[in-house]
Amino acid sequence: MNLARFPRLRLAHLPTPLEPLDRLSRHLAGPDGKGPRIWIKRDDCTGLSTGGNKTRKLEYLMADALAQDADTVITQGATQSNHARQTAAAAARLGLTCHLLLEDRTGRRDDAYAKSGNVLLDTLHGAVIGQRPAGADMPAEMEALAARLKAEGRRPYVIPGGGSNTVGALGYANAALELLAQAAESGLRIDHVVHATGSAGTQAGLVAGLVALNSGIPVLGIGVGQPRAVMEAKVLDLARATMAHLGLPDLVRPGHVVANCDYIGQGYGIPTEGMAEAVRLLAQLEGILLDPVYSGKAMAGLIDLVRRGHFAPESNIVFLHTGGSVGLFAYPEALA
Ligand SMILES: *Cc1c(COP(=O)(O)O)cnc(C)c1O
Repeated sequence: MNLARFPRLRLAHLPTPLEPLDRLSRHLAGPDGKGPRIWIKRDDCTGLSTGGNKTRKLEYLMADALAQDADTVITQGATQSNHARQTAAAAARLGLTCHLLLEDRTGRRDDAYAKSGNVLLDTLHGAVIGQRPAGADMPAEMEALAARLKAEGRRPYVIPGGGSNTVGALGYANAALELLAQAAESGLRIDHVVHATGSAGTQAGLVAGLVALNSGIPVLGIGVGQPRAVMEAKVLDLARATMAHLGLPDLVRPGHVVANCDYIGQGYGIPTEGMAEAVRLLAQLEGILLDPVYSGKAMAGLIDLVRRGHFAPESNIVFLHTGGSVGLFAYPEALA
């Protein structure tokens, strides 16, 4: 896997720390004190505008935008999109104009949701925000905006939702390399990687990287919105396309792509009790902030699976913290 062939900007603070969660592991162990050891890969600490997983993708996407001589970037997401916020920050750093199209996926109009958290930061970074109703064809909306801006003489670069295409997924192939190097250095045998999966780029890039490096480490994506079959098909397609983009043989098999979509609750961005418990547990046992939409639900899934004995007692599980804690400020009533 030769990632150095692809243009990349340094936007993230890397490598992100890999730390044990000893108090959480002990809390979840059985009465005999036996249970898996949980570790955390701190991609919430990538540094750009409070960090998160989209920064790794943006290192490759923004490099591609500059290679194409763009002066403007366009992307889309839910109102409280972490991807939109990190894109706005990256654009600010590079002196590009940033247009964000935000879809009202949760139907919430209260000030905390509509104006605080990520939306406040989007505004601070100087992004131009356009709102769209739930169910809008967001890729088509972005293309229409790009056409309008081109007619005005701008040079827009369109980034898909979540930064999830073969270019963005390179960021997580690179993260696979980083994680394996850290594990080798510290003598850590990683048995599982678990993380929140949404627009598929994180899981697809990780799977492509871990398969390309022949690691044998299984990845479990915990879904936050779509049904399992849809989620797994999206990840598999993008993982395979990413292998092709990397110039590697198609070694990704359907068995490499596993999503568990049992922890979504009523839908994307709608709080669950498990999420609130997970957010509180990590805050109180480890001093770590999760987020209500992604990492909180993913950790709720991990906690439940550990309690059900899904993982062998001596196994090492790495939870990839994908960031998003500024989203906590959009959910005061669910968490207070
Ligand atoms: C976007 C996001 C995810 C999901 O990553 P995808 O690459 O879209 O699957 C997980 N956690 C957080 C905090 C995110 O913002």
